Amino acid sequence: MTSDVGTNWAGNLSYRASRLAEPQSLDALADLVRGAPRLRMLGSRHSFNDLADTDGVLVSLAALAGAQPSVAADRRTVRVPAGIRYGDLVPFLQAEGLALANLASLPHISVAGAVQTGTHGSGDAIGTLATQVAALELITGTGERLRLARGDADFAGAVVALGALGAVTHVELDVEPAYEVRQRVFEGARWDAVLPAYDEVTAAGDSVSLFTTWADPDVVGQVWVKSRTTRDEPDLAFVGAAPADGPRHPIPGVDPQPCTPQQGQPGAWFDRLPHFRLAFTPSVGAELQSEYLVARTDAAAAIEALRPLAGRIAPLLHVCEVRTMAADDLWLSPASGRPTVGIHFTWRPDEPAVRQLLPEIEAALPASARPHWGKISTLPADAVRARFPQWSRFAQLRERLDPQHRFGNAYLARLGL
Ligand SMILES: Cc1cc2nc3c(=O)[nH]c(=O)nc-3n(C[C@H](O)[C@H](O)[C@H](O)COP(=O)(O)OP(=O)(O)OC[C@H]3O[C@@H](n4cnc5c(N)ncnc54)[C@H](O)[C@@H]3O)c2cc1C
Repeated sequence: MTSDVGTNWAGNLSYRASRLAEPQSLDALADLVRGAPRLRMLGSRHSFNDLADTDGVLVSLAALAGAQPSVAADRRTVRVPAGIRYGDLVPFLQAEGLALANLASLPHISVAGAVQTGTHGSGDAIGTLATQVAALELITGTGERLRLARGDADFAGAVVALGALGAVTHVELDVEPAYEVRQRVFEGARWDAVLPAYDEVTAAGDSVSLFTTWADPDVVGQVWVKSRTTRDEPDLAFVGAAPADGPRHPIPGVDPQPCTPQQGQPGAWFDRLPHFRLAFTPSVGAELQSEYLVARTDAAAAIEALRPLAGRIAPLLHVCEVRTMAADDLWLSPASGRPTVGIHFTWRPDEPAVRQLLPEIEAALPASARPHWGKISTLPADAVRARFPQWSRFAQLRERLDPQHRFGNAYLARLGL
């Protein structure tokens, strides 16, 4: 029997859950957690796989997400309801004159969903969005209310945790004084120039993305550079790239209207760091996504490994994006223990064909490649587990906080959890 819980954002998954619960209070959420034998938390539905699904009750915190965030007395953190979308948090931060260190490509996603899946933007010196978490509050699988802060023994296991430990109710995020950013799109770079100078290219701004369609395996396509206005204007002439003569969408030929302003025009951090604006459909909409996150030392080898596959990849692809992120110590983070480069694929919505191609991509990529938890991958479970050195610690933490696997689901079971 199918439920009427609906689909994920991409529409490639109909949730199997028996019903959707939207508790109006934390006490009602706690009652749900105590009473339901199987349940799973739902964010803004932007994952492309069955990570958020359950055969029990799906629980959305949307009804609690409107609660007002609060700024700590030292103004270094803000406590937010876990279900809030970044795009809805921004006006509050703006009014307070505060900012986050980074955002993902879109502001449409919930804080808890992003953090639990290791969602990231780009930046050599900037960690994934999960590294902005100073503390989180959850109701565990045993019904216990728990607050874990940075430095607490279990904290590093609980921030990126695949929804497996319980219901995250609040998140405390690091904030800093608001700042302005410029972004500029460059065109004309070729891989043979970029790969030997990769570190210089990604250092050209605070947040750099390379976009390629693989239509020509020698051509990068676009380089997006976002920098705080306190930095010098970037110049990528050394890799043969010149500023674009107008606004661009990452996918060549698509109307750039949904994109944040470019061409070096200074603006608020939240209106430059994401590629896409909240009021518009991000990316293309009719799409699927995969992403592999390799050790930064393997970045050039990973790109070189993909170039021979360009002819297989390009017909299924909208665009591929390459981003960087700083190392962190969060057990299941894609950047756990090493500076990381994410190689992301926005696919046309042909899931069988994508799933047929992915094993070839996965076989070609270096063994440091970790799959994005919220996107489509066919990497076998033993390879996934082996690529997260803290995996068994996480499995033990999960047994402690949810011994009856009430927050378990088919996705976690496939990973052996
Ligand atoms: C157009 C588009 C662009 C994207 N861009 C990026 C990008 O730039 N960078 C990137 O890294 N990823 C990106 N993603 C992927 C996306 O960020 C992740 O899939 C993320 O999980 C989405 O958050 P969500 O709120 O939709 O989570 P959902 O898909 O709803 O849930 C994801 C997981 O979080 C858990 N969860 C949600 N809420 C809670 C809670 N309160 N307590 C405990 N667990 C919870 C769920 O159980 C599930 O395990 C993109 C996706 C789309 C569709």
